[in-house]
Amino acid sequence: MTGLVLKDIRKSYGSVNVLHGIDLDIKQGEFIVFVGPSGCGKSTLLRMIAGLESITGGDMMIDGRLVNEVPPSRRGIAMVFQSYALYPHMTVYDNMAFGMRIAGEKKEEIERRVRAAAASLQLTQYLERLPKALSGGQRQRVAIGRAICRNPKVFLFDEPLSNLDAALRVATRIEIARLNDSMPDTTMIYVTHDQVEAMTLADRIVVLSAGRVEQVGAPLDLYERPANLFVAKFIGSPAMNIIPCIVDETGQTTAVTLAGGKTVTLDIPTDASQKGKTASFGVRPEDLRIATGDDYLFEGEISIVEALGEVTLLYIEGLVDGEPIIVKVPGIFDVKRGQKMRFAADRQKLHLFGDDGRTYGKS
Ligand code: ADP
Ligand code: MG
Repeated sequence: MTGLVLKDIRKSYGSVNVLHGIDLDIKQGEFIVFVGPSGCGKSTLLRMIAGLESITGGDMMIDGRLVNEVPPSRRGIAMVFQSYALYPHMTVYDNMAFGMRIAGEKKEEIERRVRAAAASLQLTQYLERLPKALSGGQRQRVAIGRAICRNPKVFLFDEPLSNLDAALRVATRIEIARLNDSMPDTTMIYVTHDQVEAMTLADRIVVLSAGRVEQVGAPLDLYERPANLFVAKFIGSPAMNIIPCIVDETGQTTAVTLAGGKTVTLDIPTDASQKGKTASFGVRPEDLRIATGDDYLFEGEISIVEALGEVTLLYIEGLVDGEPIIVKVPGIFDVKRGQKMRFAADRQKLHLFGDDGRTYGKS
């Protein structure tokens, strides 16, 4: 069975190139999440898959069929947007039934599909209500239900939860995860800038930056083995700490001198050509701990303490130009601003990136 194949997909608006050649192979039934900073081309790519934007270059195949010139209505796709755009004068039932009525479906079939979609989204008790009598989360579920009724092969979501408040986001996110489980053959492509949505929903995440794919992989693969500095800093919150360093020794392990003067050996192989070059040393805030002995990575003065209850964030300024190093310690941690501390991390939790930004060894 085939899903969706994108081959060197490009998009320009006039002389402005927005997507620079996207290659993706999406299997039927996969849940794919596009993440990336605002303006990187996520919506454009999704709209091209839907057929709402023309394709400047490359090939797009759905189920093995070239769809570059196929209109949206004949791609077997349904799309859910950030704004739910329900008909305000129609009940929930009629909003969900509308598309099928236009398509000339039989009354019994419409009834069956609306009821099934409503049941799967816990909307059965609201079918006779108007949208204005629903919460934002319920309205978005109606928009999703309307899309389900179209029986799509591919489901596209463009930041569907962005207009919801925090609690509703969580509830609706779980609803979408459940929906995905109940439709194992339906391919879903979901755009978000929310890390938690990406990490929890995706089978695979596609990280985009400035119209290019930076990395494609399972959420925890991206977290543990980012291919480059961009992904390392984009996945994870707070972001991975990056400390400039110089490569001293290469080989099966690599010795570097960090800004600040400390020498560290990493279990990451590098080849001899890297010797003497500048590189970036990376360690996640949650992988740092307070050092007990001399085996520490760096020492610094605590400049800010953020006590969040479940974790405490410690900021250390002055080690790296312009950016603080952040340490995430579990629970409540009694520390004063201005206190000097040393921090360490397990060797297998350390990352190293070359002067071209690419990771060494791990991916
Ligand atoms: P994202 O969804 O990742 O925030 P978009 O796909 O909406 O980003 O936009 C990607 C880039 O394409 C942006 O720089 C945006 O300004 C540009 N863009 C989007 N639509 C158009 C358009 N109709 N005409 C010109 N430029 C556009
Ligand atoms: Mg967008």
